[in-house]
Amino acid sequence: MARVVVAGVLVAGSCAIGPTVWGAQQNEDVVVDLWADRDDDDANGIADGEQQELPVLARTDLSPVTASLVGARLRVASGGSGARVVTAAGRPLPWGSELPSGAFWQGLSPGRLEVTATTKQRGDVRIILNVSGFDMRDGEGARVDMATSHASLERTPPMRIEGGVDAPYDDFDALRVVVSVPDAMPADAPDLSVDSVSPLGARLDTIPRLRLVPAACARDSGGLRCWASAPIRLVVDDQDRNHPLVKDRSIKATLGGAIVFRRGGHKAQMIRVLGPRSSPAGPIGLLRASLRSVVLRVTPGGVPAIGGNDASAVSALRSELGAASAIWGQCGVTFGDPSSLEVRVVDPPPPHLVSIGDGLGIRASGGELRLRVDGKTLVVVTRAGETPGAVALEMTRVAERAGFSCQVSSNATIAPGLGPSADVSFRRRDRTLATADRDPNAPLSTDATLTVRIGSVDLSDGLEHFADMDSMAGTLEERTLLKAIDDGAPALIEVVVVPLFEGGGRIGESFIASDRSSLRNIVVLDRAGIRARKSSLTLAHELGHVLMDLPGHPDDYGVDTPTLLMDSDAAEESPFGPRRISLEECARVVRESGPGSPAPLLVAVPIAPVPVHQ
Ligand SMILES: [Zn+2]
Repeated sequence: MARVVVAGVLVAGSCAIGPTVWGAQQNEDVVVDLWADRDDDDANGIADGEQQELPVLARTDLSPVTASLVGARLRVASGGSGARVVTAAGRPLPWGSELPSGAFWQGLSPGRLEVTATTKQRGDVRIILNVSGFDMRDGEGARVDMATSHASLERTPPMRIEGGVDAPYDDFDALRVVVSVPDAMPADAPDLSVDSVSPLGARLDTIPRLRLVPAACARDSGGLRCWASAPIRLVVDDQDRNHPLVKDRSIKATLGGAIVFRRGGHKAQMIRVLGPRSSPAGPIGLLRASLRSVVLRVTPGGVPAIGGNDASAVSALRSELGAASAIWGQCGVTFGDPSSLEVRVVDPPPPHLVSIGDGLGIRASGGELRLRVDGKTLVVVTRAGETPGAVALEMTRVAERAGFSCQVSSNATIAPGLGPSADVSFRRRDRTLATADRDPNAPLSTDATLTVRIGSVDLSDGLEHFADMDSMAGTLEERTLLKAIDDGAPALIEVVVVPLFEGGGRIGESFIASDRSSLRNIVVLDRAGIRARKSSLTLAHELGHVLMDLPGHPDDYGVDTPTLLMDSDAAEESPFGPRRISLEECARVVRESGPGSPAPLLVAVPIAPVPVHQ
């Protein structure tokens, strides 16, 4: 008997176009190759083959029933539950019904089905449905459900996988493909290619031919031949993709996208790429942080800290943000599409900030403070025993009477301090920053114990940065800079790029929530921190302190693991450099900054279907 193979037919939208090559003679077998439809093309969390109603988006893997069978009655001769017929309206059709036009075949489980179609013109036609199975398996051999679970980005440095295709391996993220094919199909390994696509369906990377070797089939799967691949790693850059140890089994991928497997160019099945499948805080899907970024000019109106001009500064920082976002994809965290991230180039602020009790936070003993704001003289009388915070409020009242609007913030008590100091930022009524200076003919303060200082920012000699002792409050120059930029929006992370830090050595720093300072969720890096990206991922590292609300580093207390992003001093431009994030660290991000945390920095992004061509 001749065989007419109908497979991998394009389905465009809800309009199925049947194969026009149909030219069967009477009594030819119709042979249809299908995949058990275990993936979730419509992203509703249910395998497409389990849905009782299939919206258009869930029909990607269906194969149109040839038009010549319209009106026939179908009867299962053997292998009944391995496939079904779905109507043009997306409803399963019971066997025995009359076949309407526009129907589809859908594979459900691997095996061979024989169906008899009783037609009016040609009598009985035998239909063979060869349903292949497609599974993803983890390092312990457990099945990873393509509908209720997902694939994740690699957090293990390249390594050799020992043993055969059934051997366990110690890599949480890499997954093997296991394919089971009915005996009746060709005995060669299936010709599978692998595409990695973005959330919008754009192709990012390809493995043109996935190497498959014979593997044992699961018990009770008679009539099938099985093949397995090496564990496939999903990576974010060429460094990790092209290392000799793993280049045959690595593919670049992005969070929210998908890995699409194809046989003969036609889509077989797909798996979504999200955060870790499981972690101490549960499975992690897709979480988005909102970042707002500024690049400082060295002087007012001068060149930006990076890039040489404004446009290059914006694109340099966006590229940095894109790299940091890709790395945090390991935890299911994205910072959004880098090309649309807001980046502003701004002047250093004027001296708008006055610090009361700066340093140790010693209380007032009585006296007078005198300063000028935009040229207007302000006088504040202090009384013995007043806290810096009380004096700051009094200064605000005086300033408001003079037509200013102030922002008062208290600072964390620094290590040797007696209490918190307080900062007053002077603003005009239109919220622009005012300029404070001292009266040239009078002391700033006659109070013997209360320290009063006007902050100023001079980036040409480097930003004076905090040390261990005042890390929680920041230096006066840092506070003057950052309080000019930070509008206090609690769910935002600010990224600030300065030309350089004073003294050399430091290339990035962060202000985190647990410092209990008014400065929080801020990352500062300098141009050396941007330059060190390939070896140290400075921005991603500093964002880690903020997202985890973690002041320390894993190597401060424990074993030095130079492959961890949060290692304090590792620098290496290779897949063995500091770029990996542990599951425990991902879980900490969810607990400290996730949607359910007390001060969330991350929102859960709904999982959307990925447009994939068949
Ligand atoms: Zn650090």
